[in-house]
Amino acid sequence: MKTIKDLNIDNKKVIIRCDFNVPIKDNKIIDDTRIASALETINYCLKRNCKIILLSHLGRIKEEKDLENNDLYPISIHLSKLLNKKVMFSKTTRGKELESMIDNMNNKDIILVQNTRYEDLFDKKESKNDFELGKYWASLGDFFINDAFGTIHRAHASNVGIASNIPSAIGFLVEKELNALSSLNVPDKPFIVLLGGSKVSDKIGVIEKLVLKADKILIGGGMAFTFLKAKNFEIGKSLLDEESLDFCKNILKNYSDKIILPVDFAVTNDFNNEEDYRQKDIKDFSINEMGLDIGNKTKTLFENHLKEANLVLWNGPLGVYEFDKYRKNTDEILKFIVNNNIKTILGGGDIVAAATTAGYKDKVFHASTGGGATLEYLEGKKLPGLEVIK
Ligand code: AMP
Repeated sequence: MKTIKDLNIDNKKVIIRCDFNVPIKDNKIIDDTRIASALETINYCLKRNCKIILLSHLGRIKEEKDLENNDLYPISIHLSKLLNKKVMFSKTTRGKELESMIDNMNNKDIILVQNTRYEDLFDKKESKNDFELGKYWASLGDFFINDAFGTIHRAHASNVGIASNIPSAIGFLVEKELNALSSLNVPDKPFIVLLGGSKVSDKIGVIEKLVLKADKILIGGGMAFTFLKAKNFEIGKSLLDEESLDFCKNILKNYSDKIILPVDFAVTNDFNNEEDYRQKDIKDFSINEMGLDIGNKTKTLFENHLKEANLVLWNGPLGVYEFDKYRKNTDEILKFIVNNNIKTILGGGDIVAAATTAGYKDKVFHASTGGGATLEYLEGKKLPGLEVIK
């Protein structure tokens, strides 16, 4: 794979596709990890005396009112603080104003262009990889660097579109992600997979692939209940993914020695953070109860498996971590992994969000910045953002 170091970008205009899709509330950036992760590539381009044009999406744009909520301007201010350097902002995604800003750039100047998905308002030009749009953006620079791992599994105008038109490579962030994920191709053994989250159906492809490589797959979160239902347990009002029942039955039949299911849960009667909860074995569930976190016996069971591992892949939280009460054992297992130095890859999305708020994100071997992209990589699918660079 061609990386930024393979291109002679000295003194050139370089377009970098970043992933600045950060959570913003009341105009404040709540978690700037993604912005901070882009600095290495930006700083490299500064050292090379480049004119730097940054592109990113933020949120989704479906109607006019989405524009204001997904304005990238606050990101330019934040980035400017992190770099200790002025970052210019283009309010528009194309046109005379943007072009003249670029024409007037000096070496080492940085421009952040407005949210690429503003182009989705009409005809979804960005998300559908409109040919003219990709060509136009490409015309603004000499080289293109894709450093947005979170969208690498998508063919959009701001990644595939541009890369189809000018010499391109991946940036340091994407390179790091690929290096970490490649350790899963021939994993160190014992290799243990920890799966949580809500729906089995979203993860069928991944389970089918991983069950061949993993020594054990530990299943928690809401998705555990579909497996438990497939084993004829009463699961009460817990999450059930009916359409995946047959899949679960088959996996359990063919890999009974590999799949480890919870034996108990934190249960309650209503889906909220207020009600009291109790610890209950799965065999004692009643029809009005729902399990919202794995139980304490399961935590110990999982830890006993994890301590044997030489590599762990963890995708999805083990409980409803958005409620303080039901994130307890996700946090406990994160702590266990960190304290015992167990080489672990967190596969993006909610588990990385949980690790970030609990303060463990920077203490694990690798926390991926791309949930969907990581899953598609693990399924063995081709990632369009990389294919075009290859
Ligand atoms: P996913 O996007 O499939 O990784 O799912 C993440 C979601 O799973 C989070 O929003 C969690 O709240 C949810 N989740 C985890 N455990 C449970 C559970 N026991 N019951 C319902 N939802 C859960």
